[in-house]
Amino acid sequence: MGFVIGHGVVTDGIELFIEDGAILIEGDKIAAIGPTAELRDRGDKFYDLGGRLVLPGLVNFHHHLYSALATGISPAGPTDTFVQILENLWWRLDRALDDETIYYSAVHGIMDSVAHGVTTIFDHHASMGFIRGSLEIIEKAFREAGINGLLCFEISDRAGRETLKDQIEENVNFWEIHRDNPNVKGIMGLHANFTLSEETLREIARSKPEEMGIHIHCGEDRHDFDFCRKLGYSGPVDRLNAFGLLNDRTILAHAIHLSERDYRLIDEKKPIVVSNPESNANNQVGKMDRDRIREFVLGTDGMSGDMVQTLRSMYLLGKGHNEDFEALRKLFFETSRKILSRFFPNRGGLEVGNYADIAVLDYVPVTPISLENLMGHLIFGAKNAKAHMTIANGRIVYHNGKFAFADIEKVRPEIRRAARNLWDKFRKV
Ligand SMILES: [Zn+2]
Repeated sequence: MGFVIGHGVVTDGIELFIEDGAILIEGDKIAAIGPTAELRDRGDKFYDLGGRLVLPGLVNFHHHLYSALATGISPAGPTDTFVQILENLWWRLDRALDDETIYYSAVHGIMDSVAHGVTTIFDHHASMGFIRGSLEIIEKAFREAGINGLLCFEISDRAGRETLKDQIEENVNFWEIHRDNPNVKGIMGLHANFTLSEETLREIARSKPEEMGIHIHCGEDRHDFDFCRKLGYSGPVDRLNAFGLLNDRTILAHAIHLSERDYRLIDEKKPIVVSNPESNANNQVGKMDRDRIREFVLGTDGMSGDMVQTLRSMYLLGKGHNEDFEALRKLFFETSRKILSRFFPNRGGLEVGNYADIAVLDYVPVTPISLENLMGHLIFGAKNAKAHMTIANGRIVYHNGKFAFADIEKVRPEIRRAARNLWDKFRKV
């Protein structure tokens, strides 16, 4: 026997829609989905959701948990250009991270995500002062929280070529160890073309097992595009392709500054494109061309753990009219589900037999709701809504503002202490 959540508007955003719906969860899987009247007595315990919106667990396809303790920090120099933002803020921060601050950054970022219904995070990690073992520290935070992650270390020449071996091995070892782990897996992380030399890309391509994908910032800023052009490539996607690094397990974050050939390669080789609308607005790097790239998923790029807010930003910063709802529904539910299951079989969507990863948003629709107007409810109704309940792998990890895996009163002083240590070190490195 398991437990039942019911009296919710249950939908997968694709074809499943039950206005007074319920889900039976047994072990770590979904055992049944149906009307509340049919399922309410099938478990040991019944949770009444009071008409709230129930969705598949949300996925953040590009995040930087290492940035979670940087809120409010002053950059160490000017931030007028994209490269200055990196040099005076993020690269300095990642040099300052140590084992303890990596862990508490992950804990804090995971809590923010779980509180918004996120059950899977594709994380892109950097800590150039603490490379070896960094991914296992983050994995520990995921394991304790009970949620899922695709982890990598962002390889870059910026830390000096002598650390390159450590950076590559950190990725490959983690990928190898967690190949059969259903919850947390590895992928090869690359920072961006413009901090990776030809020699480094060759070394990465040589060291990477065939089936291992890559996760890279691609064409985020004009600087990345110009760098590749100077080397004789038509653009950043073309350069990755030249090293055999482009396939359907390649994750390209941003994809803004691209050549005609880059777009053609994306159509042909079908890498996964992740758009990060809030981060792009924050860094003023431009927007992904949605007329050229029609299939993509969403990430926050370290800006927040809130995917519904990110969806709303995509809408507001994108085309901004009602005809866009269908495209957004497709990417938020269909494409997300397809991409997630490429890395994590039996995850994504609400389906009997799948892992029970479920988001119950703290939003009770009062106007008529159906599959047809679901995006209107998400973008104009559920905006700013935290989760009421988040279930990952069949376990209630967050409910009514409380985390099952952390006592907020105890962990918050630890996070605060770690943040203070990190900020002190940030000024010195
Ligand atoms: Zn990023």
